[in-house]
Amino acid sequence: MYLYILHPTMSQRQAVMDAQRAERQVDSSLLGLIGNTPTVNIFKDLYPQADVTIKLESFNPGGSIKDRVANKIIQDAESRGLLAPGDELVEATSGNTGIGIAWIGRLKGYEVTIITHDKVSKEKLALLKFYGAKVIIMSSETSADSEDHYVKVARRYASQKGRFFCDQFYNHSNSLAHYQSTAPELWLQGGRSADIIICGVGSGGTLVGLSRYFRERGSKARFVVADPNGSIYHSYFSGSKYVPSSWQVEGIGSNFIPGILNDSAADEVYSISDAEAFSACRIIRQSYSLDIGLSSGAVVATAMKILERAPNKKIMCISPDSGERYLSKLQLAE
Ligand code: PMP
Repeated sequence: MYLYILHPTMSQRQAVMDAQRAERQVDSSLLGLIGNTPTVNIFKDLYPQADVTIKLESFNPGGSIKDRVANKIIQDAESRGLLAPGDELVEATSGNTGIGIAWIGRLKGYEVTIITHDKVSKEKLALLKFYGAKVIIMSSETSADSEDHYVKVARRYASQKGRFFCDQFYNHSNSLAHYQSTAPELWLQGGRSADIIICGVGSGGTLVGLSRYFRERGSKARFVVADPNGSIYHSYFSGSKYVPSSWQVEGIGSNFIPGILNDSAADEVYSISDAEAFSACRIIRQSYSLDIGLSSGAVVATAMKILERAPNKKIMCISPDSGERYLSKLQLAE
């Protein structure tokens, strides 16, 4: 019996190996579910001459477009030898990147610490904790050059040995994730002949990755940004005067310019109020029974403004997540 424990038989060893292989297959199949998100048509009733499609990134396993980015940043860091087993992943995020890092980190055996700010919904905070991340909450009103700005706090926290800063605002793996996965999907889903593609800008990864892919293929599509009132991006892309104020829509808008962004990535930018974004979420839910998040609402509100003056365009909208993440904010606005 004693010897038997020390030296398992061939068939026992085989059983352990089979179990380990099966476990690895479960892991990789979950990561393999990232991407290939569906699109649906909207506004056929209101604008019969238009062709408006919305790409639903809530269908990713972690519930948002940021699963793609979290996966790519972690994979690239692993393949560059920057991560060792048991290391701690650190990120500054308005929630969705953090949720992606938290579930993939858990799957791969990394600790996860997320530095976020007080504008983030309680649903997203609950999800971060649910996946086992340690969460540090900073003020969303802090200026970008303050040492207390959430991105600076994250960078400082990550500077210790054994911690890896995912750094979505400066890490080109972010926009590459979209260049390599979101963009080719969108291209095949009708983007090839689109007149207009609308997205929000948080880190800028989506906009930079998509616009680079489309322009390299000679697309004539105009890239339009939906920016919350009070964010710096309207002035960055259009040259208008920057009038800072605060906004409720999460994940888009900023008070600093991320390192991965460039001002030629967008052709046009619309300032969208919180009320317009909330109202677009409500219209889409009531008309099409479709649940979209607040930044998706800003994107759809932008599409509606464009359709008012150009009702025959082919428009593709990026919906980064669903309204479930903002249920309490959406209910308050009802
Ligand atoms: N919408 C939501 C809800 C997000 O979480 C994000 C990411 N911050 C974005 C839009 C913007 O995406 P990106 O960081 O690629 O600009």
